[in-house]
Amino acid sequence: MPQFVEAKSCKWYKHRVAITDISQLETMIELTEEERAWKEDGPSTLPLLISDHMAKLIANPAIRRQFVPSSRENTDDIGTLDPQEEKKHEGTERLIHRYTNRAAFLTTDRCFSYCRHCFRRRFTGSMTGPASDEDIRKAAEYLAKHTEIREVLLTGGDLFTLSDERLGKLLSSFKAARPDIILRLCTRAVAVQPDRFTEDLFNVIRENQTGAPYYLMTQFNHPDELTEEAMHAVEGFLSLGIPAMNQTVLLKGVNDDAETLIKLCNDLLMHRIKPYYLFQGDLVKGTAHLRASIRKGLEIDRILRRELSGLALPQYTIDLPEGGGKVALTDNHIIAFENGIYAIETPDGDIRHYPESESEA
Ligand SMILES: *Cc1c(COP(=O)(O)O)cnc(C)c1O
Ligand code: SF4
Repeated sequence: MPQFVEAKSCKWYKHRVAITDISQLETMIELTEEERAWKEDGPSTLPLLISDHMAKLIANPAIRRQFVPSSRENTDDIGTLDPQEEKKHEGTERLIHRYTNRAAFLTTDRCFSYCRHCFRRRFTGSMTGPASDEDIRKAAEYLAKHTEIREVLLTGGDLFTLSDERLGKLLSSFKAARPDIILRLCTRAVAVQPDRFTEDLFNVIRENQTGAPYYLMTQFNHPDELTEEAMHAVEGFLSLGIPAMNQTVLLKGVNDDAETLIKLCNDLLMHRIKPYYLFQGDLVKGTAHLRASIRKGLEIDRILRRELSGLALPQYTIDLPEGGGKVALTDNHIIAFENGIYAIETPDGDIRHYPESESEA
């Protein structure tokens, strides 16, 4: 068995893997030269792992591009493995404290399927394993001390590859340290391994549903990922009163056209999932072939702003290199400011004028 199937602390995880080897893919789809030539032990490697649920959809081009590796990963030399310079912002070894009022806890390096566009390649699939009792204790202590932190992202890897017991330990420790912190449950598992979301799992969350609310943060990148099973998994959170928000990565050849994103966002909204961010791809080594240009992103953003309701619209955002942080990417609608009057472009390309408030001018 390939090494990464032996995640000891999650017996559940061990049984649900479908594809870990190129030769298995070969029997399901006709591989291209580049797909066949991928080397697992390249400099910017990420294991090949595709869940049984995603394996069923692997012939779908949008799914295939996200999960089937390519030799272009091996030769890409743009960017680094840690463009967000998370290493520099460690509060504890697993707690990234980059923004004053929020932090991200790396629960584990494991996922149910590895996305080829993964932005945390320095860590994901690195065999670091789930956070230990000690890791959890240290992070909880840090949170107790740093009262400026109001939100914590439970991320990774994927939080829900943890066993129910480990998840319970994590949630109860953080809740005990800081019941006032909003915990974001960041997961792609609802999309790629929806049968992980059992009654037992929801009971663990329910038992720890005290103090500040949870938010479910999903990653759906294409409308075809919104399967009945995935939507049922999200429904489990919604019925616990946990709101759901989605982060999409703008991916070349997957969703870098307005029509696909319009469908994705409207479908998400219909399932009570609020489109939150549309991310420009980070400069992560090994992912250049999956990045769309900013020019294209801005073009798409302009269409989305016209075609989607405010509720359905995600914020097109870039996480700047060298740990610069997240900033919104959008066309500037302010054309000019003269004699205390703004000239502002309408969505249709007309101009309107708006005087600066008296007290400010
Ligand atoms: C993205 C991110 C956050 C959350 O940012 P929001 O804009 O509030 O969604 C927090 N910490 C780190 C390290 C992040 O990368
Ligand atoms: S689920 Fe998230 S952490 Fe895991 S491979 Fe995909 S993008 Fe990376």
